[in-house]
Amino acid sequence: MSALLELEGVEVRFGAVKALDGVTFSVQPGTIHSVIGPNGAGKSTLLNVLSGVYRTKAGRVEFEGKDITRMRADRITRLGVGRAFQNIALSGDQTVQENLMLGRHALMKSGFVANGLRLPSAVREERVHLERVHEIADFLDLEPFLESPVGELSYGGQKRVEIARALAMEPKLLLLDEPVAGMNANEKRYVSSLLKVVLESLDVTILLVEHDMEMVMSISDQITVLDFGRSIADGVPKDIQEDPAVIGAYLGT
Ligand code: ADP
Ligand code: MG
Repeated sequence: MSALLELEGVEVRFGAVKALDGVTFSVQPGTIHSVIGPNGAGKSTLLNVLSGVYRTKAGRVEFEGKDITRMRADRITRLGVGRAFQNIALSGDQTVQENLMLGRHALMKSGFVANGLRLPSAVREERVHLERVHEIADFLDLEPFLESPVGELSYGGQKRVEIARALAMEPKLLLLDEPVAGMNANEKRYVSSLLKVVLESLDVTILLVEHDMEMVMSISDQITVLDFGRSIADGVPKDIQEDPAVIGAYLGT
């Protein structure tokens, strides 16, 4: 099986800080692959490189065998890398459905004019998009809230809309940056179970950056550990838990 995503020697600097320093690992299709590490390890920087927000100074990133190292963010999105942002960037006044439809705009064929004139082709296309949005909402238990303004949902509900909006782009690879941050233990377990349903039901691979160890250990197929911008370990949860280098990084020894 060839990798969906491959990173080799990825390097990002901010002045004197090496946020990423020769990061090398690969993500297999159909898996939940987690990236963990102490604060400042370079996890968010890594997601920014993968989505084309930052450029790597050295090294190479391949998605489905294509070199995306220097590709623009919008092209990477169109190739099938979707992202839910850490800080909530939803429009609170708009309904859940409207927010999810926004996630689909990148996929829409009809232009602005055809949509505005409500041409039959545009109406047909919109109906297909709406059906898909309903399906995705269903996977994340958001169906009952489709007509509600996002701002009226609970914090956990809004986080689920964020994930759903990224999924609405029908990515092959979904990037998640700390999706359960700020949730209580029950909500965390709930979102974990939803992510597993998403993985099994949609043809998507998940790259998860997450602090919550209980979630990471229970949900991940594979884990990469970053420390000071370097990948210090890569393995299945059981091996990572017992790895002395990982324990050392978390204890700061
Ligand atoms: P993590 O997400 O693992 O907590 P980050 O990727 O946010 O870590 O940060 C990695 C390192 O890069 C940190 O030392 C951080 O201060 C630095 N850094 C991240 N983004 C920037 C930036 N835009 N400008 C300067 N330094 C940054
Ligand atoms: Mg971060």
